[in-house]
Amino acid sequence: MKVIIDNGHGINTSGKRSPVRKDGSQLFEYEFNRSIAAMVMMELQKQCIPFVQLVPEIEDISLQERCNRANQIHKSDPGSFLVSIHANAGGGTGWEVFTYTGQSESDVIANIFGNEAIKAFPEFRMRFDYSDGDLDKESQFYILKHTACPAILTENFFMDTAKDLDFICSYAGRSRIAAMHVRAIKTYLKSKNQL
Ligand SMILES: [Zn+2]
Repeated sequence: MKVIIDNGHGINTSGKRSPVRKDGSQLFEYEFNRSIAAMVMMELQKQCIPFVQLVPEIEDISLQERCNRANQIHKSDPGSFLVSIHANAGGGTGWEVFTYTGQSESDVIANIFGNEAIKAFPEFRMRFDYSDGDLDKESQFYILKHTACPAILTENFFMDTAKDLDFICSYAGRSRIAAMHVRAIKTYLKSKNQL
Protein backbone atom coordinates (compact mmCIF):
# COMPACT_ATOMS: atom_id res chain seq x y z
CA MET A 1 0.00 0.00 0.00
CA LYS A 2 1.13 3.48 -0.86
CA VAL A 3 -0.68 6.77 -0.40
CA ILE A 4 -0.37 8.44 -3.81
CA ILE A 5 -0.22 12.19 -3.30
CA ASP A 6 -1.10 14.26 -6.37
CA ASN A 7 -0.39 17.98 -6.26
CA GLY A 8 -2.56 19.36 -9.04
CA HIS A 9 -1.36 21.67 -11.85
CA GLY A 10 2.06 23.17 -12.55
CA ILE A 11 3.92 26.43 -12.81
CA ASN A 12 2.98 26.65 -16.49
CA THR A 13 -0.77 26.06 -16.00
CA SER A 14 -2.76 29.04 -17.22
CA GLY A 15 -5.49 30.44 -14.98
CA LYS A 16 -5.56 28.56 -11.66
CA ARG A 17 -4.61 31.56 -9.59
CA SER A 18 -6.27 33.98 -7.20
CA PRO A 19 -7.16 37.56 -8.01
CA VAL A 20 -4.41 40.03 -7.03
CA ARG A 21 -4.73 40.80 -3.32
CA LYS A 22 -4.63 44.28 -1.77
CA ASP A 23 -0.93 43.88 -0.99
CA GLY A 24 -0.21 43.04 -4.63
CA SER A 25 0.37 39.34 -3.99
CA GLN A 26 -1.35 36.55 -5.85
CA LEU A 27 -1.79 32.88 -4.99
CA PHE A 28 -0.95 30.33 -7.69
CA GLU A 29 -2.78 27.07 -7.21
CA TYR A 30 0.19 24.85 -8.16
CA GLU A 31 2.17 26.41 -5.28
CA PHE A 32 -0.62 25.92 -2.75
CA ASN A 33 -1.21 22.31 -3.84
CA ARG A 34 2.50 21.51 -3.59
CA SER A 35 2.79 23.20 -0.22
CA ILE A 36 -0.05 21.14 1.26
CA ALA A 37 1.28 17.97 -0.41
CA ALA A 38 4.74 18.62 1.06
CA MET A 39 3.33 19.16 4.56
CA VAL A 40 1.24 15.99 4.28
CA MET A 41 4.17 13.93 3.00
CA MET A 42 6.50 15.23 5.69
CA GLU A 43 4.06 13.99 8.32
CA LEU A 44 3.46 10.66 6.57
CA GLN A 45 7.21 10.12 6.46
CA LYS A 46 7.52 10.94 10.15
CA GLN A 47 4.83 8.38 10.92
CA CYS A 48 6.34 5.73 8.60
CA ILE A 49 3.27 5.67 6.33
CA PRO A 50 4.35 4.75 2.78
CA PHE A 51 3.58 7.36 0.13
CA VAL A 52 4.55 8.46 -3.37
CA GLN A 53 4.54 11.99 -4.72
CA LEU A 54 2.86 11.48 -8.08
CA VAL A 55 4.21 14.69 -9.63
CA PRO A 56 7.58 15.78 -8.25
CA GLU A 57 8.00 18.11 -11.24
CA ILE A 58 7.16 21.82 -10.93
CA GLU A 59 5.68 21.81 -14.47
CA ASP A 60 2.20 20.58 -15.21
CA ILE A 61 2.22 16.87 -16.09
CA SER A 62 -0.60 15.69 -18.33
CA LEU A 63 -3.53 13.98 -16.68
CA GLN A 64 -2.92 10.94 -18.87
CA GLU A 65 0.66 10.67 -17.60
CA ARG A 66 -0.50 11.19 -14.00
CA CYS A 67 -3.00 8.35 -14.36
CA ASN A 68 -0.36 6.11 -16.00
CA ARG A 69 1.96 6.74 -13.07
CA ALA A 70 -0.78 6.10 -10.51
CA ASN A 71 -1.86 2.91 -12.27
CA GLN A 72 1.74 1.61 -12.32
CA ILE A 73 2.05 2.26 -8.59
CA HIS A 74 -1.28 0.59 -7.91
CA LYS A 75 -0.25 -2.42 -10.01
CA SER A 76 2.90 -3.05 -8.01
CA ASP A 77 1.34 -1.93 -4.70
CA PRO A 78 -2.29 -3.05 -4.53
CA GLY A 79 -4.24 -1.29 -1.83
CA SER A 80 -2.74 2.04 -2.87
CA PHE A 81 -5.07 4.98 -3.19
CA LEU A 82 -4.78 8.49 -4.61
CA VAL A 83 -5.43 11.84 -2.97
CA SER A 84 -5.41 14.80 -5.36
CA ILE A 85 -5.00 18.15 -3.61
CA HIS A 86 -6.48 21.36 -5.05
CA ALA A 87 -7.81 24.80 -4.24
CA ASN A 88 -11.19 25.83 -5.59
CA ALA A 89 -12.35 28.81 -7.63
CA GLY A 90 -15.66 30.16 -8.85
CA GLY A 91 -16.74 32.47 -6.10
CA GLY A 92 -17.95 30.03 -3.45
CA THR A 93 -16.66 29.26 -0.02
CA GLY A 94 -15.67 26.21 1.98
CA TRP A 95 -14.38 22.70 1.52
CA GLU A 96 -15.45 19.79 -0.65
CA VAL A 97 -14.34 16.36 -1.80
CA PHE A 98 -14.97 14.56 -5.09
CA THR A 99 -15.06 10.96 -6.27
CA TYR A 100 -15.91 9.41 -9.62
CA THR A 101 -19.57 8.52 -10.21
CA GLY A 102 -21.07 5.44 -8.57
CA GLN A 103 -20.25 3.75 -5.30
CA SER A 104 -16.76 2.40 -4.74
CA GLU A 105 -13.95 2.32 -2.19
CA SER A 106 -13.28 5.93 -3.21
CA ASP A 107 -16.55 6.94 -1.53
CA VAL A 108 -15.49 5.23 1.69
CA ILE A 109 -12.26 7.25 1.66
CA ALA A 110 -14.01 10.49 0.70
CA ASN A 111 -16.50 10.06 3.53
CA ILE A 112 -13.66 9.77 6.04
CA PHE A 113 -12.03 12.89 4.59
CA GLY A 114 -15.33 14.75 4.79
CA ASN A 115 -15.87 13.83 8.42
CA GLU A 116 -12.36 14.97 9.29
CA ALA A 117 -12.96 18.25 7.44
CA ILE A 118 -16.14 18.88 9.47
CA LYS A 119 -14.06 18.62 12.66
CA ALA A 120 -11.07 20.54 11.28
CA PHE A 121 -12.86 23.58 9.82
CA PRO A 122 -15.86 24.43 12.03
CA GLU A 123 -15.83 28.07 10.89
CA PHE A 124 -16.22 27.14 7.23
CA ARG A 125 -19.05 25.81 5.13
CA MET A 126 -18.91 22.14 4.10
CA ARG A 127 -20.08 21.76 0.52
CA PHE A 128 -21.43 18.22 0.75
CA ASP A 129 -23.88 16.31 -1.39
CA TYR A 130 -25.85 13.94 0.83
CA SER A 131 -28.30 12.94 -1.92
CA ASP A 132 -26.65 9.56 -2.50
CA GLY A 133 -26.12 8.69 1.15
CA ASP A 134 -22.57 10.01 1.54
CA LEU A 135 -21.04 13.42 1.65
CA ASP A 136 -18.75 13.52 -1.38
CA LYS A 137 -19.65 15.09 -4.70
CA GLU A 138 -19.40 13.03 -7.84
CA SER A 139 -17.51 14.14 -10.90
CA GLN A 140 -16.03 12.97 -14.16
CA PHE A 141 -12.64 14.55 -13.38
CA TYR A 142 -10.03 12.75 -15.50
CA ILE A 143 -7.81 11.87 -12.54
CA LEU A 144 -10.77 10.21 -10.80
CA LYS A 145 -12.11 8.46 -13.90
CA HIS A 146 -8.92 6.97 -15.31
CA THR A 147 -7.21 5.75 -12.16
CA ALA A 148 -7.53 2.04 -11.39
CA CYS A 149 -7.03 2.66 -7.67
CA PRO A 150 -9.49 4.38 -5.35
CA ALA A 151 -9.11 8.11 -5.90
CA ILE A 152 -10.45 11.25 -4.28
CA LEU A 153 -9.93 14.94 -4.99
CA THR A 154 -10.07 17.57 -2.26
CA GLU A 155 -10.94 21.19 -3.05
CA ASN A 156 -9.51 23.16 -0.17
CA PHE A 157 -11.34 26.50 -0.11
CA PHE A 158 -11.70 29.18 -2.75
CA MET A 159 -8.86 31.23 -4.18
CA ASP A 160 -11.29 33.94 -5.29
CA THR A 161 -13.12 34.46 -1.99
CA ALA A 162 -11.32 36.77 0.46
CA LYS A 163 -11.97 34.81 3.67
CA ASP A 164 -10.92 31.52 2.05
CA LEU A 165 -7.91 33.08 0.35
CA ASP A 166 -6.61 34.60 3.59
CA PHE A 167 -6.99 31.19 5.23
CA ILE A 168 -5.13 29.21 2.55
CA CYS A 169 -2.36 31.80 2.29
CA SER A 170 -1.69 31.57 6.03
CA TYR A 171 0.66 29.05 7.59
CA ALA A 172 -1.98 28.31 10.24
CA GLY A 173 -4.55 27.53 7.58
CA ARG A 174 -2.20 25.36 5.56
CA SER A 175 -1.15 23.46 8.69
CA ARG A 176 -4.77 22.71 9.52
CA ILE A 177 -5.50 21.57 5.96
CA ALA A 178 -2.44 19.29 5.93
CA ALA A 179 -3.19 17.90 9.40
CA MET A 180 -6.76 17.14 8.34
CA HIS A 181 -5.52 15.17 5.31
CA VAL A 182 -3.08 13.20 7.49
CA ARG A 183 -5.78 12.40 10.06
CA ALA A 184 -8.11 11.20 7.31
CA ILE A 185 -5.41 9.02 5.73
CA LYS A 186 -4.63 7.47 9.12
CA THR A 187 -8.30 6.88 9.93
CA TYR A 188 -8.76 5.09 6.61
CA LEU A 189 -5.63 2.97 7.06
CA LYS A 190 -6.73 2.02 10.56
CA SER A 191 -10.12 0.94 9.19
CA LYS A 192 -8.22 -1.35 6.80
CA ASN A 193 -6.00 -2.67 9.63
CA GLN A 194 -3.00 -1.17 7.84
CA LEU A 195 -1.94 1.02 10.73
ZN1 LIG B 1 -7.13 22.56 -9.22
